[in-house]
Amino acid sequence: MFIYYDLHMKLPADFAKIKFHISQTTLAKLCFGALLAIQLTPNLLYVFSSENHVTAILESLLPALVGIGLITSLFARLWFSALILSLLALPAVFESWYVINFGKTSDAHLLEIILESDIAETKAYLSGLWLPITLSTIFTVTICVLAIITLRNSGFKWSWQAKHHALWQSRSNVFLFSIAGLMLLNAGLLIPQTPSEIPPTEYDDLLQDSIADTLSTYASSWPTGLPVRVLSVWRDEATLHHARSRLKDFRFNAVPHQSTTDQERPLIVLVIGETSRPDRWQLYGYERETTPHLANMDNLIPFKNAITPWAWTRMSVPIMLSRKPPQLRSPVFNERSFISAFNEAGFKSYWLSNQNVLGLHESPTSIYAHEAKIVRFFNPASYKEAGTNDDILLSPLANIAKVEANSTGTLVVLHTLGSHFNYNHRYPESFQKFIPDRPKMGVLSLHDKQQKIALDNAYDNSILFTDHVLNEAITILKNSGRPAALIYVSDHGENLFDTGCKLSGHGQETERDFRVPMLFWWSPEFAQQHPEKIMAATKNASKPVSTESIFHSILDLAAITMPDSDESRSIFSENYSTKSRWVYAGGGMDFDKAQKDATCQKLHK
Ligand SMILES: [Zn+2]
Repeated sequence: MFIYYDLHMKLPADFAKIKFHISQTTLAKLCFGALLAIQLTPNLLYVFSSENHVTAILESLLPALVGIGLITSLFARLWFSALILSLLALPAVFESWYVINFGKTSDAHLLEIILESDIAETKAYLSGLWLPITLSTIFTVTICVLAIITLRNSGFKWSWQAKHHALWQSRSNVFLFSIAGLMLLNAGLLIPQTPSEIPPTEYDDLLQDSIADTLSTYASSWPTGLPVRVLSVWRDEATLHHARSRLKDFRFNAVPHQSTTDQERPLIVLVIGETSRPDRWQLYGYERETTPHLANMDNLIPFKNAITPWAWTRMSVPIMLSRKPPQLRSPVFNERSFISAFNEAGFKSYWLSNQNVLGLHESPTSIYAHEAKIVRFFNPASYKEAGTNDDILLSPLANIAKVEANSTGTLVVLHTLGSHFNYNHRYPESFQKFIPDRPKMGVLSLHDKQQKIALDNAYDNSILFTDHVLNEAITILKNSGRPAALIYVSDHGENLFDTGCKLSGHGQETERDFRVPMLFWWSPEFAQQHPEKIMAATKNASKPVSTESIFHSILDLAAITMPDSDESRSIFSENYSTKSRWVYAGGGMDFDKAQKDATCQKLHK
């Protein structure tokens, strides 16, 4: 009875004594630790999402530790370091979200996209994200405020020498570790880097800057890579600005052809394909049904014998857009593109892209893209990642068709990602018609011949999706009721470990690199206006064509003339004549006179 009484009386009293107590110093340490964790998270996510974890640790996590270490140990008052880390906290949360969604870190291109989006688009994009954004903002801001206030108030000592503490608890140790790390990183910078797809002969001073390219090794690191990213935006923007300003006063003196002045001017669309080879199109005789829509399309002419002079995007696209001779190695040229000629002739011009604005491969095209009155880049990722599919360009195209319904001439260029590796990233799940289209383990590799079946299937699925995108684009033009025409042409082909050949990818100087699909579609309204152009195109469809002809042809298609127009280069002219077709193989040769080796169809003299 007594014992029972004792327990009964004592227990509640003991409970009351236990208090949840946390000292200000502990809270300061916890909050500062959380701040460090917020900064490290994007790097850890990047390492986790990378194919090569070791490289990602060296390029992302290690520089991040060095940068964070320096910020932390540079100031005697730790709350000051907390303030700097707090300024980077919300951006770090956004960066983490970005890495989770796109498998890559933010870059110059993303900044461009953010700067060009309007408020309505941003709102629409963020519509489903308001709750996580609000919650993570409240959480992050609370941590930051608590860290700064508690560190200031607790008088937390961040001593230069700590005798009885662990290594990382002395400021001098953290500082020394950071400096040592910095020296290691600098040693890493001395290892030369070579962009893999570019032959050394193509190096030029304009879009190459070896120091910045080497520094860019650490661009994926957060927050250490931030200055590199800013430097890269500044450098690329300066280059583009320079290239554009040189041609500020350039004029083609282009005008609408006299006979068309009283007619309704057309809506002309050029779709620039990517890495597409004609022999994988059902339309070109491939046994698989990869282009079911286009194979049965009326008013469509496939050009059977079209090639590109170069098998790299950065070299081939400028040749389509301008009169730049293919032999000219520099990515810039002293003339503008046909877009400016359309502008001069009173057309409204649009450039809609699913590719990047800036970069070694993208900038030479962007120089011309920005000649358009309205320029929009939609893909927040680059060709190296999943990013967005090409159908993202369709609703903007539909909008243009609506807005420009009564306009006097419209030009739209759609720059797609088509079939660029990784093929799996170029189509949605609903287009997985040919399977297996990926390996059982890991990701699709362009360097593993054992994956040929999956590579073939994935590549064919990407063509199937191109067929869908083109069909949708053509439907939009058809429904516009305007005289409308569409040209599709790919920038180059691709090798797929064909028939015993060990080559994959492009830039291998094979016939499969250079042959491209090239199509022409027209609306019934266009046929009424220009039956002669359709007749000429039908006649020229089997003749040898190079993408050098696109410049002359698209102007002819829109009935735009200029003092030095060259009708003999237009596939829409009955005066079209075949010229010799130069290609970049073996340093440069005539495609039609070249020999081909039996296994890979590699060109040689
Ligand atoms: Zn390309």
